[in-house]
Amino acid sequence: MSDKIEVLGARVHNLKNIDVEIPRGSLTVITGLSGSGKSSLAFDTIFAEGQRRYIETFSAYARNFLGNMERPDVDKITGLSPVISIEQKTTNKNPRSTVGTTTEIYDFLRLLYARAGEAYSYVTGERMVKYTEEQIVKLLLNDYLGRKVYLLAPLVQNRKGHYRELFETVMKKGYLYVRVDGELTEVTPGMKLDRYKNHSIEVVVDRLVVKETDDHRLQNSVQNTLKQGDGLMLVYDVQRETVRHYSRRLMCPTSGISYNDPAPHNFSFNSPQGACTRCKGLGYVSLIDRDLIIPDKSLSIHDGAIVPLGKHKSSMIFWQIDAILEKYGFTENDPVSSLSDEALDEIFDGSMERLRIPASLTKTTSDYYCTYEGLVKYIRSTQDHDQSATAQKWVGQFSRECTCPE
Ligand SMILES: [Zn+2]
Repeated sequence: MSDKIEVLGARVHNLKNIDVEIPRGSLTVITGLSGSGKSSLAFDTIFAEGQRRYIETFSAYARNFLGNMERPDVDKITGLSPVISIEQKTTNKNPRSTVGTTTEIYDFLRLLYARAGEAYSYVTGERMVKYTEEQIVKLLLNDYLGRKVYLLAPLVQNRKGHYRELFETVMKKGYLYVRVDGELTEVTPGMKLDRYKNHSIEVVVDRLVVKETDDHRLQNSVQNTLKQGDGLMLVYDVQRETVRHYSRRLMCPTSGISYNDPAPHNFSFNSPQGACTRCKGLGYVSLIDRDLIIPDKSLSIHDGAIVPLGKHKSSMIFWQIDAILEKYGFTENDPVSSLSDEALDEIFDGSMERLRIPASLTKTTSDYYCTYEGLVKYIRSTQDHDQSATAQKWVGQFSRECTCPE
């Protein structure tokens, strides 16, 4: 592979039969007076030839639809690889627009990942597997020959409920045992669980010793178990007390978590199914910065240490802050530098604890109780509810853009 692109005898538009060498793998800037042929070299010679060669790789039939591209007026170009070009006119400032999306290469990559990618479990790092019924039977014969196993079909995975009706149905179907939260137990009439807790329930579809000669029974049982478990099943080794998962869907064999088959949208940062939930796929987040909210710690809160609030006013947020300060043994007149970290954390982040606002402040007859959400939420809610440029600018003073920590 050549380490440079060599252009010999370029004559497109104003180019005067020039030769040029461009190093590969580095950023090259073409500069010059207006009309000197910068675009003629970059777009109309190098890009045009790269594109033409790419289209030539298609069949004659496909080329009918693409149209033949004319060969640029140049003697020879060597060292050229597939090219992409981004319009110099593009003034798109959308943060979701990248080189990948503008050139549409991203669309092909998403498709490639979805079709050719291999899934790995985020729990154990193991490669996710997906079996047919026949493969499961073979695996069981291989891994459990001569061993006593229970075939379990998952019915409920980590969900709340008492499941009385479910146990009734299980009994009606003629099954005798279930595994509830990892414990094997007999199904009894009227059986129910704690409705406020999460439960995992599997039904024991068959109990058998895996034998090569008896592979018809095993086959039937596997089929039945997969049917009851909607494509998923577990094998419990009685002696070793181990459990392994098998699935017709993509699944982690140890933890049993399963994914749907990957689709292109799973690989798009512009789709909710593919985007990071924290930054919505933008790659950066704006974080409220404590040092921007309180830049001068020698000031007291009364004298305006908290910039977004300003100097003391008779308002709910100051009463709430006063209640927090009082709880920790401080007053509004103490400089911020003397306040404890606990007090400051609560002023910034709030708490679930109810604060008492004395009746004397609210000028009513009884004390008022409320929770306090904190300065960060207070500023954030302005950002979310007031889209005006003034409000957004105001919030911007107290936040800093950072690479998404997720
Ligand atoms: Zn993110």
